[in-house]
Amino acid sequence: MARRPYIVGNWKMHGTRAMLSEARAIDRAAQRLLKVEVAIAPPYTLIHPIHREAELIAVGAQDCHEAEGGAFTGDISAAMLADAGAQFVILGHSERREGHGESNALVRAKTEAALNAGLKIILCCGENAATRAEGKAVDFVRRQLKASLPASAAELADASDRITIAYEPIWAIGTGNTATLEDIAEKHSAIRALLVDLFGDEQGGDMRILYGGSVKPENAGEILRVADVGGALVGGASLTADSFMGIALAVGEPNES
Ligand code: PEP
Repeated sequence: MARRPYIVGNWKMHGTRAMLSEARAIDRAAQRLLKVEVAIAPPYTLIHPIHREAELIAVGAQDCHEAEGGAFTGDISAAMLADAGAQFVILGHSERREGHGESNALVRAKTEAALNAGLKIILCCGENAATRAEGKAVDFVRRQLKASLPASAAELADASDRITIAYEPIWAIGTGNTATLEDIAEKHSAIRALLVDLFGDEQGGDMRILYGGSVKPENAGEILRVADVGGALVGGASLTADSFMGIALAVGEPNES
């Protein structure tokens, strides 16, 4: 069954309470675009306020700790996120993998913790410019994803409807260099094949694979028409309701009414 395009804003370390007005505007606009599923992942401090006010959009986090609790100063568990109103968490973003040294094994532990806490996850993967130049991107992405997903097959089967994959080539993030449509098609089709291998035809065929990397209103329509692209993970262009909902509008027509 084809699922609605999923447009997710990753606010990164941007946003104080002054940004709540943007979240409200995104929520209002999303109510006129019911053919698209819209969500935002603000900084931790804004999860609860946005959850309290939002009528339609989902709110999520950008990371969580792999443990249920304990002496981990400055960290936050998946259960705490759920308690604050988060419905999902982005895991394995390249800014965490590169900037915080997160290995595939650590990302796997986090995916397991988040799924056990009842959250949905958006699991990120993507190669850097050097790997791409060597022609090894597809192989790299497959290995990275396989090693970051939960290890247990039973856990996988149980969780497939709560797992979304985001393909985000590192060289395209925040650079204005969007991947070509051919690049996107090649990686998404390889990821789809991996998901079918791991989850079977039905579940693996149904899971959404988002593209991320300099998506904006001007390029969202053509990117979302590429086979196996089920939505977009958006950084910079998600920070204002105008540009973020411009992306959603490029993908889904407004409802009649
Ligand atoms: C991201 O960091 O997830 C991202 C896709 O950023 P941008 O849209 O700014 O490239």
